[in-house]
Amino acid sequence: MSLSATLLGTGVGIPQIGRSQSSLLIEGDSRLLFDCGAGTLNRLSEAGKSPLDINTVFLSHLHLDHVSDLLALAKARYLMGTSWLSLYGPKGSASWLKALQAIYPYLAEMVISVHELEAGDHLDLGAYSIKTARAVHSVPALAYAVSTESRSIVYSGDTEPCPEVAELARGADLLIHECSFPEGVQVTNHTTPRRLGEMVKEVDRIVLTHLYPQAKGREAEMARLVADLSKTRTEVGRDLMRVVV
Ligand SMILES: [Zn+2]
Ligand SMILES: [Zn+2]
Repeated sequence: MSLSATLLGTGVGIPQIGRSQSSLLIEGDSRLLFDCGAGTLNRLSEAGKSPLDINTVFLSHLHLDHVSDLLALAKARYLMGTSWLSLYGPKGSASWLKALQAIYPYLAEMVISVHELEAGDHLDLGAYSIKTARAVHSVPALAYAVSTESRSIVYSGDTEPCPEVAELARGADLLIHECSFPEGVQVTNHTTPRRLGEMVKEVDRIVLTHLYPQAKGREAEMARLVADLSKTRTEVGRDLMRVVV
């Protein structure tokens, strides 16, 4: 069975035309949403999906550009007659959600079951096997690998290029990796093309996401550098781009 990845949001905390905040929809025999930044609900509609199609959400970390639409998603489901949602995220997700639900009493009627994950965790969810790895970011953050018997997609979340995520992605059909800035921008906690290209090995295809405004106009150069160094087909993602593996 094939797996598809629809990039719902390829942007960051700074607004950009055409790039919503982080979100990724993976579809095989069921749907999994990874991150739910601002704009995700609208992008879901544009992708032809209903909030009721999304029962399970994984968060890479709790920065606002990855979680802003989560409660909006829960509320939309509630308004449409479904009051539950299954949520997976890094350590701290449960207390974060509890604090938000305390501010909005009506949210208490929504049953959002939270499962906190740690790096190296492995869980089976229907036909999927999900593995996590530690991402290197300014707050606790996880990268995820979603596998079926024959296909696998890895999503980095926010991270510096790091051996843990490279290892998680080894052998994957598709790696969706953040590449926040073009070459020449000095950053920690995020990715630039050269370090990513040097780090990643044995992946069939790479799609870059989480682009800051500094990347505008340099997309082709960024993809080319990653492709040349990793010897892997690489593209810069766009909102609503769908990749089937
Ligand atoms: Zn972040
Ligand atoms: Zn981010």
